[in-house]
Amino acid sequence: MKDIRSYDINELIEEFKNELGLPAFRAKQVYKWLSAGVDSFDEMTNISKDLRNNLSNIYYISVANIEKKLVSVYDKTVKYLFSFNDGDMIESVVMNYHHGYTICISTQVGCKMGCSFCATGQSGFLRDLKPSEMLAQIHSAQKDLGIRISNIVLMGMGEPLDNYDNVIKFLKLVSSEDNINIGMRHISLSTCGLVDKIYKLEEENFQLTLSISLHAPNDEIRSRTMPVNKRYNISELLTACRHYAKTTGRRISFEYAMIEGVNDSDECAKELAKKLKGMLCHVNLIPVNSVKGTGYKKSSVERQQAFIKILGRYGITATVRRTLGSDINASCGQLKARVEEEISLKKSKDIH
Ligand code: SAH
Ligand code: SF4
Repeated sequence: MKDIRSYDINELIEEFKNELGLPAFRAKQVYKWLSAGVDSFDEMTNISKDLRNNLSNIYYISVANIEKKLVSVYDKTVKYLFSFNDGDMIESVVMNYHHGYTICISTQVGCKMGCSFCATGQSGFLRDLKPSEMLAQIHSAQKDLGIRISNIVLMGMGEPLDNYDNVIKFLKLVSSEDNINIGMRHISLSTCGLVDKIYKLEEENFQLTLSISLHAPNDEIRSRTMPVNKRYNISELLTACRHYAKTTGRRISFEYAMIEGVNDSDECAKELAKKLKGMLCHVNLIPVNSVKGTGYKKSSVERQQAFIKILGRYGITATVRRTLGSDINASCGQLKARVEEEISLKKSKDIH
């Protein structure tokens, strides 16, 4: 079966012409339905039943089924556990900022990068997501909440640049006028720092925001928490970032999860400031979400403020990321881990 949601409009026109001998207007009709977020061919009411049957024998429509939904009582942040056509599950989060709805989507089932503070990283890697499955997360959330999403962050489960081709195709699709039509300026991509892919992304010349999960001011600390640092060290990563910012003219956003006693001292702040000095960038401090089994705790508010002050002295702007949905916990990967725990608990109860 072919994945019909992963085509762009021109590919679908070609595909329908070659496979089914259909005129371009049919492809355009079907594409309009897909872009509107339908989950089945039966919903395409201006297409004959025969053709709908025919299509459903050749193509499948990627869907993201809601397995679980948590709504924060504080700020209405919504967290979904979605399952795809094959049953694999990922998480997405919808946040309501003043400038509209933002969705945080996943790009892989699991992740290979193994960061020590991250629930997804601890759970291992299953597979890459297809462009259609990234789009399906947006469609499902929009339909369920009856809203139009205006911003996307690729900050859910998975490392986007480790699924490069599918992510690039998704970005082109989602920003296209024939499709969901969310402009690149409303999209952020977060990476743990795959340097070769950062140079490649630079060549695409997208107007998106590149977010770098830095989380440490030196190689010693970073290699301890983020294994990727052994492949590409901080110096190589920051050289790529400077290059990226210069070529694209886009400000880089550095993510820094503050972990008590690990990376939050005054010395760490100074070291970080010296390394980022002069770069077109912004630092987002995130009090680390404690993940079961890691023993990490978030830094105190005083530590956060001291850190910001020191960075400021070197001319680097930093803010503490507003944590939304703190009650529905929390960073991506945790809901899935919990549901899997429940399932295995249930299974073991069934057995005994
Ligand atoms: N793989 C990509 C994108 C997904 S992770 C990346 O690492 O950038 C999205 C963000 O959540 C990253 O900045 C990641 O470092 C951060 N993160 C992961 N676990 C966290 C935790 N326990 N507390 C705070 N931030 C966390
Ligand atoms: Fe993967 Fe990002 Fe988690 Fe690291 S922080 S394990 S790169 S999802």
